[in-house]
Amino acid sequence: MKIFVDFDGVILDTKKFVFDLNEIYSKNGISNQRIKEHGKIFSGAPKVGGITYKPERAVAFLVKDDKMCQKKILSEANIFLKELKDYVFPDALIFLKTFSKRNLILLSYGDIKFQEDKIFGSGTDGYFSEIIIDERNKMDIISKIIRKDESAEQEKIFLIDDKIENLEKIEKTNSEVITIWINRTNIKDDRCVNNIVGYEAKDLMEAVDIIMKTKDNG
Ligand SMILES: [Mg+2]
Repeated sequence: MKIFVDFDGVILDTKKFVFDLNEIYSKNGISNQRIKEHGKIFSGAPKVGGITYKPERAVAFLVKDDKMCQKKILSEANIFLKELKDYVFPDALIFLKTFSKRNLILLSYGDIKFQEDKIFGSGTDGYFSEIIIDERNKMDIISKIIRKDESAEQEKIFLIDDKIENLEKIEKTNSEVITIWINRTNIKDDRCVNNIVGYEAKDLMEAVDIIMKTKDNG
């Protein structure tokens, strides 16, 4: 069995993380308006091939001409990134302790250094046999790994993600993958009702149940 687990929004409470990172900008005198603007600029990056978020880029945008101020904010951001254990969802920790390390592969999308900082800061890196970070499309990577893996035919493969469009994509190209959509905020989405994704779970505890029930069925 292989379980591919997305990082942001699944393991890490990314919403809370972003809020507190923005607090650092705000405490250093950057207006809420400017912070909002910067959020918009970077947030669409995964979908439209735009600018990938990383603190250096964000700070360069937020304080254009003040190098001293940039340095100060960046050093505060780097300290913040070192200790992110409080941002790991409690159900994620239980989930990670339930399965063996060899079953778990972490998938993460974004700037490699920034994602690494978040993953190591969260202290969850040790639970995974492999950590995959990519700036482009993580779904293509899954397809490649599955194709490469000779045992894949006998083995159950799960993919857990909080973005339904990622799961939809993999269902279209690799229908043998069992997809689990983590819907923490209980959004209604027709793609789940119409069985375009395999399962819906409100958190990773529910995902444990789904995997336990599914893993031994032919
Ligand atoms: Mg995510």
